[in-house]
Amino acid sequence: MTAVQSFDVAILGAGLAGRLAAWQLVRQGARVALVERGSPDGSGSAAYVAAAMLAPLAESAIAERRIVDLGIASVDLWRAWLAQLPEPVFFQEDGTLVVWHARDRAEMSLFTSRVRAVSPPELVAQRMRALDGKGVGEVEPALAGRFPQGLLLAGEGQLDNRGALRALLSCAVSEGVHCVWEAGEVDVASLPSHGIRARVVLDCRGLGARAAWPAEPGKDGHGAMPGLRGLRGEVVRVHAPDVKLHRPVRLLHPRYPIYIAPKPNDLYVIGATELESEDDSPVSVRSALELLSAAHSLHPAFGEARVLELNVQRRPTRPDHLPAIRVDQQARVVRVNGLYRHGFLIAPAVTEAACAVVSALLNDEPAAHAVPAALRWPGMIEAVTETPALAEAPVGHTGLLH
Ligand SMILES: Cc1cc2nc3c(=O)[nH]c(=O)nc-3n(C[C@H](O)[C@H](O)[C@H](O)COP(=O)(O)OP(=O)(O)OC[C@H]3O[C@@H](n4cnc5c(N)ncnc54)[C@H](O)[C@@H]3O)c2cc1C
Repeated sequence: MTAVQSFDVAILGAGLAGRLAAWQLVRQGARVALVERGSPDGSGSAAYVAAAMLAPLAESAIAERRIVDLGIASVDLWRAWLAQLPEPVFFQEDGTLVVWHARDRAEMSLFTSRVRAVSPPELVAQRMRALDGKGVGEVEPALAGRFPQGLLLAGEGQLDNRGALRALLSCAVSEGVHCVWEAGEVDVASLPSHGIRARVVLDCRGLGARAAWPAEPGKDGHGAMPGLRGLRGEVVRVHAPDVKLHRPVRLLHPRYPIYIAPKPNDLYVIGATELESEDDSPVSVRSALELLSAAHSLHPAFGEARVLELNVQRRPTRPDHLPAIRVDQQARVVRVNGLYRHGFLIAPAVTEAACAVVSALLNDEPAAHAVPAALRWPGMIEAVTETPALAEAPVGHTGLLH
């Protein structure tokens, strides 16, 4: 029988949110266990395939103001946190370049009007710059002469997703986080069988937590929506030493909009499809053709790129496409989810709020969901009492977070 060890916090899921939270909590002095169904490389997570663009303005063309605000706060946190990790992680804030083929000009008006409608006007004024063809070539010499117009969204960021996952984990482990890998499908109730007893459980299982997010009644007469659903995303990872792009480039297109995110060593992530589907089978030929043709239309040197990976993952998505933190004070369970297509953009601010709630629970504060760090994001954090089927409580014992 597995001997049971006691921890302050057990974190379920070592994807993006789980690693960020483990790193923060252990540095605050908590004894942390991290339990993951997959392996330390994170290959079972959405975070592993992500382009990891940190683009609040570009995303505001399809997202709400809440995402822009969380994104701005999170990019500041990434900048500070990555600098504290002992391993360097590729991170840049050189902006996003947006381009379109001449026949798709209408897409640009749509894009800019959506950005203006959602983002704070001062941010738009500061960061959005119209470019002529010469300007496009100055920003990205590889695209000189290829696009008569473009937009530079200055200051937007990007990081190396796999490098960040690796560095966060190795730092968390060196600070004392206890990890259990290849644990299978873990939930709150099964922790003791993995040798873990915890005063608080933080659920960061992404789509793996679906059973803990029950269906919600639909709005405006629509039927019930799943509390958490997967949105299929397909990406291609290529090696393209002849391309030489320095920052993420988005190609506007009425049917096949794509982004191309450069990674270290001439690697590029080309993505991404977004399909309302729970299917996690391999990338379809249609999607691969669309992504690669669009990349080739952006720069012909992609024709000589080598395809390294074709990846699929599903983005964990709430009915309103916004992140949520649920706090069951009595059961001492905190659940973070719904990072959707913005996990890298917003996870630092979201997990910072979740960790503040966890600390409040460890300190036996009576309304943990209402600590100041949580109130900063009204509506994101909800106090709940889960049904017995969901709320298998961890063993609670009192004591302050040291
Ligand atoms: C194709 C694609 C491109 C993306 N591009 C970007 C981008 O450019 N910018 C951006 O901001 N975001 C992007 N995202 C979104 C981002 O990757 C996700 O929002 C983020 O990874 C979600 O983080 P998470 O920790 O909630 O889930 P995940 O990262 O998926 O981690 C969940 C972890 O929990 C583990 N787990 C699940 N169930 C269990 C269980 N029962 N027991 C134990 N462990 C379990 C999983 O194995 C996994 O390791 C992209 C996503 C996709 C799919």
